[in-house]
Amino acid sequence: MQAACDNIQIRKFKNADDYRRNFVIPEQIKKYLPGGKHFIDENMLKGCLETASQSPCDTVRIREILAKSKMIETLLPEETAALIQVTDPDLLAEMEQTALAIKKSVYDNRIVMFAPLYMSNLCVNRCAYCGFRCGNEAQKRRMLNMDEVKEEIAVLAGKIGHKRLIAVYGEHPDTSTEYIAETIRTAYSHIVKSPRGAEVGIRRVNVNAAPLPIEDLRVLKTVGIGTFQVFQETYHRATYERIHPAGTVKGDYNWRTTAFHRAMEAGVDDVGMGVLYGLYDWKFELLASVMHARDLEQQFGIGPHTISFPRLEPASGTDLPTNSPWLIDDATFRRIVVITRLSVPYTGMIVTCRESPESRDSCVRCGITQMDASSNIAIKGYSDFASETQQEKDRQQFVLSDNRTLEELIAHLAEEGIITSFCTAGYRCGRTGGCIMDALKTGKEGKFCKINAVLTFREWLDDFASPATLALCEPVLNRELEQIRETLPKFYPTVKEHYDRICRGERDLFF
Ligand code: SAM
Ligand code: SF4
Repeated sequence: MQAACDNIQIRKFKNADDYRRNFVIPEQIKKYLPGGKHFIDENMLKGCLETASQSPCDTVRIREILAKSKMIETLLPEETAALIQVTDPDLLAEMEQTALAIKKSVYDNRIVMFAPLYMSNLCVNRCAYCGFRCGNEAQKRRMLNMDEVKEEIAVLAGKIGHKRLIAVYGEHPDTSTEYIAETIRTAYSHIVKSPRGAEVGIRRVNVNAAPLPIEDLRVLKTVGIGTFQVFQETYHRATYERIHPAGTVKGDYNWRTTAFHRAMEAGVDDVGMGVLYGLYDWKFELLASVMHARDLEQQFGIGPHTISFPRLEPASGTDLPTNSPWLIDDATFRRIVVITRLSVPYTGMIVTCRESPESRDSCVRCGITQMDASSNIAIKGYSDFASETQQEKDRQQFVLSDNRTLEELIAHLAEEGIITSFCTAGYRCGRTGGCIMDALKTGKEGKFCKINAVLTFREWLDDFASPATLALCEPVLNRELEQIRETLPKFYPTVKEHYDRICRGERDLFF
């Protein structure tokens, strides 16, 4: 059956069984695997890793690869494999320094801030590692209605000061594309007052959801989706099929690996990749994720807008996250972040509150660009537990490690000389996909981002910061403004005029 959503015909399903059996559209897979050949060629990837391990590259060759990364060029599989097999501590340190230098050249010294908003934990799938999986009796099932979405936004935007969300959904016919679209519309339209009386709201809604057909993605495009994020979990087909049972929608490896191809075709060209590290050998996963980015570049001219680094966390009703033979330590996690920055130099990189404060702080020093804070991943967690960090286990997917508030994290970053950005201008000005990729590679986007970071940080400080945080952050902000005056003299008068208007109480001015 079909339903009209924003004048685009999308399919509706009678019940969960109908959905499970008929959701995947084989024709929307085949066209992205030309000649039936999958872009994740396991033998080729394993061959690259083996060669790099048996004949490690010398320092000169590794430095040549680093020079290529600095030119903001995506690495070839054999080049990433060479970096993966480096063990020399001095060379590893050089790789970290290069990763940070690249991050600074593309993204300057900013961290973009966001928060997760869990909309629903209804799910028809049975992923072996996830607390939301169908049949897990320990999980209370719940989907937010639109009034509840507004209550969550009131806390996120009105009390904490967030402007950018990642909205998260289980996979279920009750939380279909129509529901996702309605929650996005609601999140954008709910404007509330900050404690100091400013009108505030959410300006960018990114989505983490199951892979969708092209028509459904077109609907999400019409309601203003930001980034469409789908984590591949594992690129290793045999592992994938073992932990995502056959007969479930998620059990279809090819439907998931082509999720972004359909998104690009639908015009949703900001896509967010991620491997769930700990399910299989990190070396293979990292190399495969670079191949995925390369395939998108080759087929559409656009790589991933962001790459996230989830790693397995304990979850209710499953031992897999503690028993997996492939769990990684913090040092390996950091290495993965560094090599990803070097391999896909233009991409945004996200490390979330799943990680400990120490691990996140160390990743800030080697190339990440986005973090969340004050996060709560219980369904309706923000409005129910607004005054404390308490989280109910039976309403959340797993347990978070970094419980710092947004204000604490902002102050901490400022102490390190880092400015927090709430910029959401990119997609509202049409700077997405290929357009933003070119701008990032040539450094143009950095200029806009720097200006918008200054303007949005000023807003947040005026609307939410305590006097102590203000005192800590203002010198960082003033230094940024001064840099704009020195490096962008033509823009500076208009930037300063916008900045002064924000100081006088105007909001949402951007370049
Ligand atoms: N249901 C959608 C899907 O599976 O793509 C999106 C929502 S799901 C809650 C978001 C992500 O949570 C998954 O893609 C997976 O990577 C991650 N996740 C699930 N269980 C996890 C665990 N135990 N530890 C860390 N991340 C986990
Ligand atoms: Fe459902 Fe996603 Fe969890 Fe799998 S990872 S059980 S699809 S919510």
